[in-house]
Amino acid sequence: MDLTLLKKLSNAYGPPGYEDEAREILKAELEGFADEMRVDSLGNILFTHRGEKGRPLIMLAAHTDEVGFLVRHIEDMGYLRLHSWGVVPNLLPGQRLIFRGKKGDLKGVIGTKPPHIMSEEERKKPVVLDDLFVDIGTCTREEAETRGAYEGMTGVFDVDFLDLGGGYVRGKALDDRAGCYVMAEVFKSLKGSPFSVVAVGTVQEEVGLRGSRTAAYQVDPDYGLAIEGTFAVDMPGMAPHMVPASLRKGPVVTIADASVIAHPKVLKAITEAAEERKIPYQFKKIPSGGTDAGSIHLTKGGVPSGTIAVPCRYIHGPASITTTEDIENTVRLVKAFIERISA
Ligand SMILES: [Zn+2]
Repeated sequence: MDLTLLKKLSNAYGPPGYEDEAREILKAELEGFADEMRVDSLGNILFTHRGEKGRPLIMLAAHTDEVGFLVRHIEDMGYLRLHSWGVVPNLLPGQRLIFRGKKGDLKGVIGTKPPHIMSEEERKKPVVLDDLFVDIGTCTREEAETRGAYEGMTGVFDVDFLDLGGGYVRGKALDDRAGCYVMAEVFKSLKGSPFSVVAVGTVQEEVGLRGSRTAAYQVDPDYGLAIEGTFAVDMPGMAPHMVPASLRKGPVVTIADASVIAHPKVLKAITEAAEERKIPYQFKKIPSGGTDAGSIHLTKGGVPSGTIAVPCRYIHGPASITTTEDIENTVRLVKAFIERISA
């Protein structure tokens, strides 16, 4: 598979509420394939493919935001204090971050005490977000502000997309830019097909499935499908029943998570489509987390919904790893699902 689009999406800057860059990439990619395209008042981008009369309307949703940070205070010495959207503090010491300042991007590192001067107690202490600070290379608040830093500035992890070789890729924000990629490929393939689909790049998923809620209200679909990048935890020290999903075992199909129980009709269409087309798939074994399906299915009188996801290791951390094989199989499965549920 060509990695150009996935790389662009992964590198795009887009903490919740500031998804413009990811949205523009989807726009450039899909504008020519859509019968209608529009951006709504919250920033969701909606691409419509009009199919034959009488076919059910399917809403696809992939969120354009990523986990990120909000600068809530600048110290006299110029250090930034953070609020986190979706990242637990244990993952943060020493990480590189990038902020969108008033005069362009500012890069920084979350400061750490050299081990040489840490007390025994400090080494064992749990990490607390309020103790952490970002150093963008300053000694005073004035210096930081002169360079464009401000309280209210947002940031994300500073990690470049990389082809690791052998079909493995590494990048930030694969939750859910891998899903955005899948949705884009599926939408492009609909050209000339009889199926009715609205593909939505949603906003603010990471802070409570917000954009998909207002998008689903507008679309008023017959079925909803969230396309995600979900947690593969095939790593050392894990008991098999504690591994929600693994790499190279195909798209991850949700039966239930904390936000939705997949509608049996949708689930059946997904699994039957996979079996008919011989597409490998796995069930998400641990029903935690939530996806846009959680808000779509509660829209108006209710929308039968489900979730199909690309397995990704280390989501909500600085850099995730997934495989092109899993991404391609997810594209195949979403397409097969659309055909089956539309028939
Ligand atoms: Zn996600």
